[in-house]
Amino acid sequence: MVYIDPNLKNFGYALDTEGRAFELSNLEKLKESERILDRLTSLRDRCIAKSLWVDTVHGDGTVSTHWRPSRRWKRLDDAVERMQTKVREQKKHFMYSLANQLCRHYDVIGIGNYVPENTNHGKGRKYNRAVRNRTMHGAFKDIVSWVATRSRKHALVLDETGTTRTCHACGHVVEGGIAPAIREWDCPGCGTCHLRDENACQNGLRRLLTQVGDAVDCSHLPCSGPVQIIGRCDWRFHPQGWTGVPRGGANVNSMRLPEYRQRMRALPRARVGDRASKSAKTSPSAMRRLA
Ligand SMILES: [Zn+2]
Repeated sequence: MVYIDPNLKNFGYALDTEGRAFELSNLEKLKESERILDRLTSLRDRCIAKSLWVDTVHGDGTVSTHWRPSRRWKRLDDAVERMQTKVREQKKHFMYSLANQLCRHYDVIGIGNYVPENTNHGKGRKYNRAVRNRTMHGAFKDIVSWVATRSRKHALVLDETGTTRTCHACGHVVEGGIAPAIREWDCPGCGTCHLRDENACQNGLRRLLTQVGDAVDCSHLPCSGPVQIIGRCDWRFHPQGWTGVPRGGANVNSMRLPEYRQRMRALPRARVGDRASKSAKTSPSAMRRLA
């Protein structure tokens, strides 16, 4: 079983019942693509001022009028559409491969119901963009539940209220919550040092286990206590899939995803073969040219 705590800094932080904690990195290229998209959109919208109010006389003598955009507007509009398609496909690939990877490794997947809130309007465009990116979490919940149903696994969306502010060791609740900038904190109740996301995951995982326990009518699942962390790593997204990059003393072999290792082993051979065949083809022509 695994619980994912969605957050804004990364895509999410996950913890499984075996004690492996991993941070799910966000789509790295997305930031750059969305910056380009913003620029193209603003350039296109500036061209609206140049559009003309044109009369069209129809065959039956009626006259209709419409705005005719400039050629530059049309060109930029095409570019915006191409970029939007690209970003959409990138996001889709990212979410489907993550959902498949999770379903391959786990039987039950729990996700916190992260609700985007745009209460802080003072932070400007950068913050608005970050909030808009969060729509990916909403779509991901649907995707993961669909992929789970297809793979005969289970996906649950859990209420994550108070998971961050509650200490998983003693149950102390920090009044007023913890500011997003604070990544590590000491519990005033028992003095335990918590990693912000990991503590939220411990609480979320406990909720997931309780819910699953209730569903199967068994109040105590064998693994319902707080989980002992055995290793931490980052899951990073590549065009070939997801890789686990160990962090700070984690066990390398247990963290790396087996599928990716196999694929990486297969890749260099194919490339070497391609290069060899190409050079074999080009060298005789080069020789001929020299002759
Ligand atoms: Zn505590």
